[in-house]
Amino acid sequence: SSLFAAVEMAPRDPILGLNEQFNADTNPAKVNLGVGVYTDANGKLPLLACVKAAEAQLVEAARARGYLPIDGIAAYDKAVQALVFGEGSPLLAEGRVATVQAIGGTGGLKLGADFLKKLNPTAKVLISDPSWENHRALFTNAGFTVDTYPYYDADKQGVNFDGMLAALNSAAAGTVVVLHACCHNPTGYDILPAQWEQVIAAVKARGLVAFLDMAYQGFGDGIQEDGAVIGQFVAAGIDFFVSTSFSKSFSLYGERVGGLSVVCASKDETARVLSQLKITIRTNYSNPPTHGAQIVATVLTTPALRAQWEEELAGMRNRIKKMRGAFVEQLKAAGVTRDFSFITTQRGMFSYSGLTKPQMERLRNEFGVYGVDSGRICVAALNEHNIGYVTQSIAKVI
Ligand code: PLP
Repeated sequence: SSLFAAVEMAPRDPILGLNEQFNADTNPAKVNLGVGVYTDANGKLPLLACVKAAEAQLVEAARARGYLPIDGIAAYDKAVQALVFGEGSPLLAEGRVATVQAIGGTGGLKLGADFLKKLNPTAKVLISDPSWENHRALFTNAGFTVDTYPYYDADKQGVNFDGMLAALNSAAAGTVVVLHACCHNPTGYDILPAQWEQVIAAVKARGLVAFLDMAYQGFGDGIQEDGAVIGQFVAAGIDFFVSTSFSKSFSLYGERVGGLSVVCASKDETARVLSQLKITIRTNYSNPPTHGAQIVATVLTTPALRAQWEEELAGMRNRIKKMRGAFVEQLKAAGVTRDFSFITTQRGMFSYSGLTKPQMERLRNEFGVYGVDSGRICVAALNEHNIGYVTQSIAKVI
């Protein structure tokens, strides 16, 4: 028989599968609220002006494309550190953070996962229930047994914080806990600073390994505000992991720009950790690509472009918030009596709408409104042109 005769067909990615279905739908009113991409007031994927300007500078400079260092562009890594830990962080002055450029936030997570697997091969990984689908697959693929900690509380329309804390407090030492730093995907519910303190205390007391996934810094309440949790972990004096993504905050999805930072106890430890991360990179893809990271480094380190980025990011953040408010209002206007105000307490691109699987199916099949069966919708894909249709469609399936 042939070499691949026994190869089974892998299941389709549920969200990308939804996308294919959307593309094939001939309904002219169709709306895609499935995929996690920010679109602007006209439903278009934006090219940020700061990105365009930085790109023009790079084209003008017309530099040759040599290999980058294994850990990426030094100025980029430094800019990531300043963004994540704060410009004046003593941690950076002490040389206690190992940061590498990564292929998107996903790449940062995978580098961390591979490093952790070598460090502690028998550790378990805990992700939130529910979580970004790829968390489970990625850590499983890195060789870990992946379990969940309670997170979403449907009745409360919020976080089952007691359940989450209890799970952390009964986890074995060395367990890797993946935490959404802000703008939880898929629910949109974040925990409060005082609750983070309790999480940090549990991580410390139980000897857990915190892995913060920061894919949406600046999409919740602001760059500083969303990053505040990092400062809380630093203040607690624990070592931890942070993955960074610029896919959303720079609208650079396809450039695959991200990073991994590992907080260590000393400068010497940092050098050793960095050397191991470099081996992981070297043996997987040798070194990272230039273009996207150069754009991000240029924007972050050029004051005028930096200011422009912060303004554009605020524009995206505020537009999403406005859509959350309008969504609640227009559902009411469409005659829905159920209270949907919880939508405005959520943060980031996504909302757990509380709609059921049959309702999501009806929305898709009868109205061409595509969301995930879990009830997750991408609020960042709503705009003034489609929100009326979406809310009226929802009113008809409730
Ligand atoms: N982590 C979370 C929670 C995400 O939602 C995403 C993207 O959807 C990522 C990581 C991956 O980001 P990137 O596209 O930069 O790999």
